[in-house]
Amino acid sequence: MAMYFVFMGPPGSGKSTMAKKIFEEYGLAHFSTGDIIREKIATDKKFKEMFEALIKEGKLLDDENTKKLLLEKLKKSQIKNGFILDGYPRTIKQTSDLDNILAELNAKLDLVIYFRLSEKAAVERLSKRLYCPSCSKVYNLASVKPKNEGICDECGSKLDVRADDMPEAIIKRFREYENKTKPLLEHYQKKGILKEIDVDDEVENNYKKIKSVIELVMKKKIKK
Ligand SMILES: [Zn+2]
Repeated sequence: MAMYFVFMGPPGSGKSTMAKKIFEEYGLAHFSTGDIIREKIATDKKFKEMFEALIKEGKLLDDENTKKLLLEKLKKSQIKNGFILDGYPRTIKQTSDLDNILAELNAKLDLVIYFRLSEKAAVERLSKRLYCPSCSKVYNLASVKPKNEGICDECGSKLDVRADDMPEAIIKRFREYENKTKPLLEHYQKKGILKEIDVDDEVENNYKKIKSVIELVMKKKIKK
């Protein structure tokens, strides 16, 4: 029995970490559009040129190409247990694109899980991030600490804070995310397939909450 989820949540909500744990426990594949685009850039020169031109103009990959890319990836992936989408859909147009993608795979969205994080918790979590300016490795003083304080494990360079991870920048990103996501949440709420989970808590407790939601979906599907 396969299950299909969309994970949404602001930066710092830990949705990718959760998706990884769910993959390990339930075998649900995890797809992030960011990863898929990076993979395509690394393997397709024509795509890379097209994408770089977009970035130069300050644009994002359009809906049609994003849809094509995602469908192509899903079709060649191992998804017999279902999957979790992370970072998609981002717009109302993409919600109907996703319905089409799923229809083509003979699947239907079970649930959209929104990871609700307070602004305060987002700042607390993200301001603990450090990165290495030489090799780009990211650390987190709460979870992935460097072995020697302030020094990159990989290359020995001095770690720094990204401008993006300064409190004002975090709050700005956080609010932008919430505003952009609101219409999507309303859309899925109306469809009756939205579940919000409060993730201000510790990782282990958050994971328990998510597990119980997933197991509920599982039970409902078995009954059918
Ligand atoms: Zn480094």
